[in-house]
Amino acid sequence: MCTICETPIRPNQPYRRHAADAYTHNTCRRPPTTVPYIATWSGEKAAPDPVVVYRMPAGDTFRRGKPGITCMPVGIRYSGEALSDRDEHGVLWLPDVDNPGTGRLLYGNVHPGRQRRAMTELLCQVCGGPADRDSRGVLWLVEDGRGDWSGWPKDLMTTHPPICLKCVRAAREQCPHLWKGSALVRVGRSVVCGVWGRRYTAGRLGPLVVESTVVPFESPLIHWTVASQLVRALYACTVVSVDEELAALT
Ligand SMILES: [Zn+2]
Ligand SMILES: [Zn+2]
Repeated sequence: MCTICETPIRPNQPYRRHAADAYTHNTCRRPPTTVPYIATWSGEKAAPDPVVVYRMPAGDTFRRGKPGITCMPVGIRYSGEALSDRDEHGVLWLPDVDNPGTGRLLYGNVHPGRQRRAMTELLCQVCGGPADRDSRGVLWLVEDGRGDWSGWPKDLMTTHPPICLKCVRAAREQCPHLWKGSALVRVGRSVVCGVWGRRYTAGRLGPLVVESTVVPFESPLIHWTVASQLVRALYACTVVSVDEELAALT
């Protein structure tokens, strides 16, 4: 079965395998001609990356160096940090330049600013217009995880913003990570619950990167994280049929 057209692959049809049980017809995959709204352009890279240093407790400048007082860092900050480096939750963000169309399209690289905007305002990750919404909820196209846990996609957390109906077909045909299989989901309720980012820990000479991971806003680790994408938790989800949803377009 082809994960794009959802019809069987016959013996005479050229195909490619993408995962253990995921195949696509060669004729169904398309080269990336659509420029995704959340993709980064080479001209948008903030260079060089800001220097990450310890954030000390408030008032530390007065206490520093006095005997008998040990001062532990409470997190990280940028050296020369600006107000705009943090969001309304106080989370530190990877800086970026908003200048789409400059340089080369870096297809798989997500632009932190536009991803954050699309996730906050529920914009289509492909065209940047409003995501589709009906009585069952907002439309999401996600990697198929039906085998991941019973009741999937209940409580799914994702970094992928939603989508509009007219972008579904192009995304399924052109986006390599969806060739492994995708599911179209109506989401009745969703909450911005944390970030995807680079988590640091305290090292002897300064903050050290530990991993790239999801960190919820309520976690104390949020103070040790440089965010690059917003995460939404999806609730009241219904998996819907691609054909039936796209029929609404015509
Ligand atoms: Zn196909
Ligand atoms: Zn769209």
